Amino acid sequence: MGPQSTIAPADRQRLMAGHDEFLFPCARPYYRSPLVLEEAHGVWVKDMEGREYLDLFAGILTTSIGHCHPAVTNAVTRQMAQLGHTSTLYVTRNQIDVASRIADLAPGALTRSFFTNSGTEAVETAVTLACMSTGRSEVIALKLGYHGRSMLTTNLTAHAPWRPLPSSIAGIKHAMSPYPYRCPFKVPCDESCVDLFARDLEEVIETTTNGRPAALVAETIQGVGGFVVPPPGYFQKAAEIIRGAGGLLIIDEVQAGWGRSGGHWFGIEHWGVEPDIMVMAKGVANGFPVGVTTTRDEIAGSWTAKTISTFGGNPISMAAAAATLEVMIQEDTPARSAARGEQLGAALQELAARHDWIGEARGMGLMWGLEIVDGPESRRPDPSRAVALLEATKEEGLLIGTGGLKGHVIRIGPSMLIEEDELDAGITRLARACALVERRGAR
Ligand code: PMP
Repeated sequence: MGPQSTIAPADRQRLMAGHDEFLFPCARPYYRSPLVLEEAHGVWVKDMEGREYLDLFAGILTTSIGHCHPAVTNAVTRQMAQLGHTSTLYVTRNQIDVASRIADLAPGALTRSFFTNSGTEAVETAVTLACMSTGRSEVIALKLGYHGRSMLTTNLTAHAPWRPLPSSIAGIKHAMSPYPYRCPFKVPCDESCVDLFARDLEEVIETTTNGRPAALVAETIQGVGGFVVPPPGYFQKAAEIIRGAGGLLIIDEVQAGWGRSGGHWFGIEHWGVEPDIMVMAKGVANGFPVGVTTTRDEIAGSWTAKTISTFGGNPISMAAAAATLEVMIQEDTPARSAARGEQLGAALQELAARHDWIGEARGMGLMWGLEIVDGPESRRPDPSRAVALLEATKEEGLLIGTGGLKGHVIRIGPSMLIEEDELDAGITRLARACALVERRGAR
């Protein structure tokens, strides 16, 4: 970290007034007194008052190899001095380099990529492609899924608070989320429930569409939904059902990709299913804006209309992605996430056993959630306690996130290069924050 910031409280007030006056009011930062961040390295960030925080949320699972990783900083700096922008009307080395690395890492025959600037655009590209490839226009998504902020993707998203439009667009239907903690069939949820979740998907296709869906769009682990891990077997069945109806399987790996789920490069590989189209963003370029849609030859070839993304695949973002992928491969992020994930998971299970308002600790790799409830029997979501915990972690010098339909799930997803002692320090801070919340009896 560099020298301490000398910014005075008046500057903070001026900044916050500027935020309130010039930005859309819907762009709301975390915390009663929002953090103004000015510097970050690895898993540490510093605010404008010079206070340091251990970051277990990584800019929403995006600084996948840590803030300001030198390999990325150097690659981007070099690229900026050499060639900053061309548009996709010209061929550039970095784009081909990144696309070929993705073809190597992605499952099976997914070898062709289209680059955009966000997860939202990557999902838009995937759904448009599925419609062109199948000649159909109805799409199924899962309840509690999150897929972006555009008109199409807010409609795929199944959380009322994230859907801004006065009415829904036609042709998008939602099937049940395979959410074991809140399984409507059986508690505890087990493999027998998978058939029932799958049956619901079938029924949605049979009763709420024309029976000819273009695609099912699903996250492997629902991110904004609260790190919901489906029961084993769900995705095999879902793939069979959507393909049986003639549609494509679009898997959104925006949060779960690049080794985050531990042991595999992509979440869907845990269930042995090869998607038809895969969507990635967030962690692929360690914070640079990159969205990727990857698919098979014949599906990519079905996009015959003209298209262009001015900034998509630009040399600077692609330099960041190439450097990030190189580090992820060298460091073996799937293995690192699996190892650190065991450490994190065990600690969170212990915390859940200590506090009866933590209904469940769940996750895979370095993607773990705590379901905050009003009691172990009633299991009602308790968003106010989740907010109290978020504030308490800030007091303890720790950054985490929230999620879940009611904002009642704590989300933890640090850099995949986090060291064992750094993660231990984060767990200690989290445990102290939980004890604070317990003492205060926050409601
Ligand atoms: N899909 C998933 C699973 C996401 O979590 C997000 C972002 N939270 C998106 C798509 C949209 O990505 P972006 O915010 O980059 O547009």
